Amino acid sequence: MKSGFVNIFGKPNAGKSTLLNALVGEKLAIVSHKVQTTRHRIKAILTGDDHQVIISDTPGIIDPKYRLHEKMMLAVKNALEDVDLALLIVDARDDMEENNAIFSSLKLKVPAFIIINKSDIVKNEDLEKVTAYFKEQPYCKEVICISALKKKGIDELLKKIIDFLPEGDPFYQGDDLSDLPTKFFVSELIREKIFLLYEDEIPYHATVLVTEFKEKTTLIKVAADIIVQRDTQKGIILGEGGSMIKKLGTEARKEIEAFLGSKVFLELFVKVRPKWRDNEMQLKEYGY
Ligand code: GDP
Ligand code: MG
Repeated sequence: MKSGFVNIFGKPNAGKSTLLNALVGEKLAIVSHKVQTTRHRIKAILTGDDHQVIISDTPGIIDPKYRLHEKMMLAVKNALEDVDLALLIVDARDDMEENNAIFSSLKLKVPAFIIINKSDIVKNEDLEKVTAYFKEQPYCKEVICISALKKKGIDELLKKIIDFLPEGDPFYQGDDLSDLPTKFFVSELIREKIFLLYEDEIPYHATVLVTEFKEKTTLIKVAADIIVQRDTQKGIILGEGGSMIKKLGTEARKEIEAFLGSKVFLELFVKVRPKWRDNEMQLKEYGY
């Protein structure tokens, strides 16, 4: 039995979502969009007789404007380091030097496959050029050309992934998935946005507690408390005239909607709990 974790990383529009769908469509076993570990947003679990491949993508959208954002890069790096294999996906038409610069800057210690996507719309000689270019890179174990959209090269890719994973028992059984607490994942998504939107120490002083999670007919209602220790921190979280929390709410809601695959109504409240870090009861309540 082979089993392990695989993370997909690449610039927006490289084809991450399409690749996931292609992988899942070929070998559907268990899929849940409600599963996330602290570091990984698990998108698919492919279980076969002799393998379990757990595929996630990196938390946080790698928007080019964040490319040089150290905190983001660190988050990406941490997530990528925690897996058995990284899949670094590029659009075959994209600037290879730029992609290489991003991949190199991660200084990955885990092995990586370079996935050259959209092979259906580039000439063979260009594909060969790109392949040769990445084969030279020290972080690259394999270069695999695919068309995620046309489902070309997907079986070969999956086979190579499985070959590469360590021997081991499956991590998840069928029923495990639904038991994972969605509320916790949702609070992590909000926390992730706090990390993106606020500077310096603020994210480290804020914790998120989902207080309400109700599935209604057309949407899911979510209410969450953002807990900070001081009034000044509350002020920063709110922003002038509530501008920052509004932004946080909008961005978090979009992420939660994508994650749950449903419309979401999100309400955020900021609460000051001066000593929540020291109070054992509260720590328990907040899931630490
Ligand atoms: P993501 O942002 O990395 O998740 O990228 P998406 O999976 O959303 O794909 C971005 C765009 O590229 C979409 O319009 C896809 O249909 C398109 N796309 C993805 N894979 C392929 C492919 O293999 N060939 C072609 N021609 N288009 C693709
Ligand atoms: Mg996507």
